[in-house]
Amino acid sequence: MESALGPPEKMAARRSELTPMMGQYFDLCEEYDDALVLFQVGDFYEAFCEAAEAVSRTCEVALTAREDSTGEYPMAGVPIDSAASYIEDLLDAGYRVAVADQVQDPDEASGVVDRAVTRVVTPGTLTEDELLAPGENNFVAAVAGETGKASQFGVAFLDVSTGDFVATSVRDVSSVRDELARFAPAEAILGPLVPADVVPSDVTISPFDDGAFDSEAAGEQLTRHLRGGAQALASDVEVRACGALLGYAEYARGGAEGDLDYLTHLTRYDPRDHMILDEVARESLELFEPRSVHGAEGTALVDVLDETACALGRRRLTDWLRRPLVDAAAIEARLDAVAELTESVVAREGLHDELKGVYDLERLITRVSRGRADARDLRSLHATLDRVPDVRETLADAESERLAELRERLDPLDDVRDLIDSAVRENPPAEITEGEILKPSFDEELAELRATERAGKEWIDSLEAEERELTGIDSLKVGHNAVHGYYIEVTNPNLDAVPEHYQRRQTLKNSERFVTPELKEREDEILSATARADDLEYELFQEVRRAVAGEVARVQALADALATLDVLASLATVAAEHGYVRPEVGSDGIDVEGGRHPVVERSLSSFVPNDTHLGDNAKLAVITGPNMSGKSTYMRQVALVSVLAQLGSFVPAESAELPVLDRVFTRVGASDDIAGGRSTFMVEMSELATILRDATENSLVLLDEVGRGTATTDGLAIAQAITEHLHDETRAFTLFATHHHELTEVADSLAHATNLHFAAADTGEDGVEFDHRISRGAATASYGVDVARAAGVPNSVVARSRDLLADLEAREEDLVEETETDVTESDDSLPADARETLRDVDLAAMTPLEAMNVLADLKDRLDD
Ligand code: ADP
Repeated sequence: MESALGPPEKMAARRSELTPMMGQYFDLCEEYDDALVLFQVGDFYEAFCEAAEAVSRTCEVALTAREDSTGEYPMAGVPIDSAASYIEDLLDAGYRVAVADQVQDPDEASGVVDRAVTRVVTPGTLTEDELLAPGENNFVAAVAGETGKASQFGVAFLDVSTGDFVATSVRDVSSVRDELARFAPAEAILGPLVPADVVPSDVTISPFDDGAFDSEAAGEQLTRHLRGGAQALASDVEVRACGALLGYAEYARGGAEGDLDYLTHLTRYDPRDHMILDEVARESLELFEPRSVHGAEGTALVDVLDETACALGRRRLTDWLRRPLVDAAAIEARLDAVAELTESVVAREGLHDELKGVYDLERLITRVSRGRADARDLRSLHATLDRVPDVRETLADAESERLAELRERLDPLDDVRDLIDSAVRENPPAEITEGEILKPSFDEELAELRATERAGKEWIDSLEAEERELTGIDSLKVGHNAVHGYYIEVTNPNLDAVPEHYQRRQTLKNSERFVTPELKEREDEILSATARADDLEYELFQEVRRAVAGEVARVQALADALATLDVLASLATVAAEHGYVRPEVGSDGIDVEGGRHPVVERSLSSFVPNDTHLGDNAKLAVITGPNMSGKSTYMRQVALVSVLAQLGSFVPAESAELPVLDRVFTRVGASDDIAGGRSTFMVEMSELATILRDATENSLVLLDEVGRGTATTDGLAIAQAITEHLHDETRAFTLFATHHHELTEVADSLAHATNLHFAAADTGEDGVEFDHRISRGAATASYGVDVARAAGVPNSVVARSRDLLADLEAREEDLVEETETDVTESDDSLPADARETLRDVDLAAMTPLEAMNVLADLKDRLDD
């Protein structure tokens, strides 16, 4: 967040002299001193003084000035019609924006128009459609900490645009991080005692009143907004997180009353009911965001799974991927439904077609509930409800329990649909205060007013013919303009024939315009009927909107069922079109035949499928092979197949038997950033620490190169110790890709470990080519030389390399023998003090220059 602007000093100095309008601005700035106030003046939102400079700089709009009796103030404004994109710029620059609207009709104001802050826009509390991605949630998170000894945290997430509201509690800071990574909120508020570093770096931390996290205040918020909601929560920290979030949502809606009614349900979840995918795993498995490779955008897993038809489905799919299940029965229930839809093209495509016409019910009903929906929104709701019977119809023969249950939950809300249809016109205008939005038949008084209006207009329509006949002027015309209203126009040559009772209104070059007392009377009648009808429509519309808002929970339940159906149909489509099979979930080991990487296979014309067998015989596999041979693709593929299965999807393989994994850990990528030096090594080690601490025998651990950020010997030592620990103690499913050839011997020596490898290169026409086929056993130590040969390095050099390699290997063996005798007795050995120096150096803590100095010093001593 940018530093708060506060009220302008220049104005503070002469507060009492300010004009009423500027005084109003100043007061609002004072009240919302942690936000940038946008102040409505007619069709613009204006900012003054420092705020004006910020708006001008950030939104690239002109900085002007306003002058009044008290002085000159810098001013910058943005048009209200396109305010959303400017507000987005301000949010991006780190400001909170308090929107102060005119809340009084300027015509009715005696002095300065009343203004009030109607919302405070923050990154996590957006409701403007233009700023929200349709298929994505936009969460704000709250974290509350325990004051007592036992560390405990309550974590809650709220999407104010959809009403999604979930909460949990966890025991330690790293689990808080995991849950925050899971929901990827746009913004977070933290209670007292909660360290800021629980929040991932891309999330804005917003300051908020500590008092909102107080148990009592939070509890009150909950009972006020969610009847019975507080009882559903398991602990005090959850109550405090949820209550504070509601307080924040209230703050964000500004002074507007009663508009959190759409927050009808709060779902409590237990992280243990879901596979844990922490921030590191999410990123390295590219579940939601592709990593850009050499600047080119890749594809994320969620994208290859997304055949959803509507925004509701896309958000639900993301949620399932965020929280794969660990309950085998729940997984099977989803798989049954997907299986049934995979078999029936008709049901699957029928569903998809119907769901394409479904509007974003969650955001629609939120707008309805907040009193922000227009007539078009209600028609969109109607159009969606209209589809529901057809959606049910496509599921008429559904047999799986899940589909049958969803079918029963598809309530077409006939009452709501009929109410909207009887009230709201079919293609209403966007503006709701100017009439023409309701059907006259909806209300007796409205019908009468519109009838009066129509009769008047009909009378005027027939007036032209009547007056022509009466006056004998064939060119006589009846017209209307905004300033003078209705008139009768007669061209100059015919002015003699104008009757007595015509009253002159306007003289034009070639004609004169007249009114008659009767025309005037009729016109007034039409005008007052229209004005009253328009006002009445607005009132009635608000009534209808409130009535619909009263059914918010039913609409949300329907949205929930539609969202789930959309995801199930999407998963079935992917399965059918990309040759996925139903996995068997709940076995002891991982047994996959012909597995494929769901994302990589889409971008390659021929992907080579590979098997995986990890279980009691061998739960840990060391994978060797040259760069680019397919090691990391293979490891990720094994993880992704499990993630897919546990979210209820079929998997890209010929067959798959899978255990229920509690968590996937990844430690990937050190080889790409060795240049990062010590800090990278620290990151690597802290990731490893997490793995060694938290992995269980039901976890899958992917290690892609370990210990490269330090000297070879201690890197290798660490790698070996980790391998042994994972094998002996943790017993997690482990895939370990490495360049440390020595690790293959370690794997050979362990009872439940095995070696796998990707073979060295064959010469393709354009240089190196791999067959990407995984095989048992370790890669040969000389694959580097093989790759060199395949890449076209001259034969003489390759031959020389082989000789040198053989030499080196022989020497290594000699060295081992020497070490086994006593090195100190050798004449070539280092002097004792030099060896001591060597033993004491801390390589991981040294800069290359320091290392050089030590080396030079040692050399000096040898030369002595
Ligand atoms: P490594 O980890 O061994 O360096 P990668 O897994 O990054 O290798 O794979 C390198 C490239 O090889 C990938 O970008 C991909 O295009 C291709 N590749 C990997 N696995 C396969 C496969 N099974 N079938 C076809 N191409 C593959």
